[in-house]
Amino acid sequence: MADIYDLIIIGGGPAGLAAGLYGARARMKTLIIEKQKLGGQIVITDEVANYPGSINEATGPSLIARMVEQCDEFGAEKVFDDITSFDFSAPVKVLKGKHGEYHGKAIIIATGANPRKLGVPGEKELTGKGVSYCATCDADFFQDLEVFVIGGGDTAVEEAMYLTKFARKVTIVHRREELRAAKSIQEKAFNNKKISFMWNSVVDELKGDGILESIVFKNTKTGESTEIFADEEDGTFGCFVFTGYLPQAEMFAGTIDMDGGYIKTNDNMETNVQGVYAAGDARVKSLRQVVTATADGAIAAVTAEKYIESLE
Ligand code: NAP
Repeated sequence: MADIYDLIIIGGGPAGLAAGLYGARARMKTLIIEKQKLGGQIVITDEVANYPGSINEATGPSLIARMVEQCDEFGAEKVFDDITSFDFSAPVKVLKGKHGEYHGKAIIIATGANPRKLGVPGEKELTGKGVSYCATCDADFFQDLEVFVIGGGDTAVEEAMYLTKFARKVTIVHRREELRAAKSIQEKAFNNKKISFMWNSVVDELKGDGILESIVFKNTKTGESTEIFADEEDGTFGCFVFTGYLPQAEMFAGTIDMDGGYIKTNDNMETNVQGVYAAGDARVKSLRQVVTATADGAIAAVTAEKYIESLE
C-alpha cells in the first residue's frame, strides 16, 4: 500500500503553500500536489505591493520562491501531478492523478480560480504590460492615466469605481447596452463623473511594442472596428479585464457543496465532507488576494490537524 499522508493539499499557490507550511510545521506528514507550476496566479504579477511586508522589489515569483523554501525547510513534500479523480468516502481519502495515486487522512482543496481571459491577439504578450486582471494589484501603476474596464458585471463596475481613485478617466466597455451589475452598484457608477461607457463593444485586439499602446474594439451590433490609441504624452493606458472567474473546482461538484462553481466552507475552511477542507480562491469568499489565500491555508491546516488528532 502506498504511503498514507496525514495531509494532502491539492494546489501549490499561496493558499496551498501556506497550508503546506502549517501542516509540515505541525509535524504532519504533508504532501502538496501541484498541476503545473508552483505559485498560482501571483506568479504572473510583477509587483506585489499589497501583501504585508512585501516591499522593496517584492515580486510574485520572489514571494512564492520564499514560500516554497519555507515549506521545504519544514519538510512538506511536493509532487507535480494533475488530479483527475478522487474518493472521499472512506477515512483514508484517495486522489488519483495522471502519474500516481495518493492517500491522505485529510485533504485541502486549494486549486484556485483563474480570471476568464478575452482570448484575443496581444492579450498574453501584454499581460502585466498594460493588461491586468486585478485592480487592487495594479491600479497604482495607472495613476493619472486612462484605463478601459472590460465587462459589465458587479466586479467590473466595482473595480472601475476603485480605479477612478487612480486613473484620470475610466471607460467601462460592455458587450451589450445594459449592465449585468446590481442596480445599486450601477447607480454609483452612473453618478461617477470619471466613468464613461462604451456600449455594444468587445475587444478584438490589444496592440503594443512591450507595452499596451492601442486597443481595437468591435461594435457587436454593426461589426465596425475602431482602434483607440493611448494619448501620445502618456504613451500607454490600462485595460482591466473583469469578465468573470473560472474556479478550478468543477471536479468536486456533486460531492462537495458548491455555490456558483466555488466551494462552500465555514470559517474553519471545513466543507460538507469530513476531513476535506478548501482554501483560497476556489472557495466562496469576498476578497480573493494572496493575504486572504494564505490565511485560509493556515486555518485549513490547523483545522485538519485537530481533525487528525481526533482520529487517534
Ligand atoms: P459575472 O457576473 O459573470 O460578469 C461577467 C461580465 O463579463 C458580464 O457582464 C459579461 O457580459 C461579461 N463578459 C463575459 N465574457 C465576456 C467576453 N468574452 N467579452 C466581453 N465581456 C464578457 O462576473 P463577476 O462580475 O466577476 O461576478 C461574479 C460573481 O461575483 C457574481 O455572482 C457577482 O454578483 C458576484 N460579485 C458580487 C459583488 C458584490 O455583491 N458587491 C462584487 C463582485 C462580484 P454579459 O453581461 O453580456 O454576460
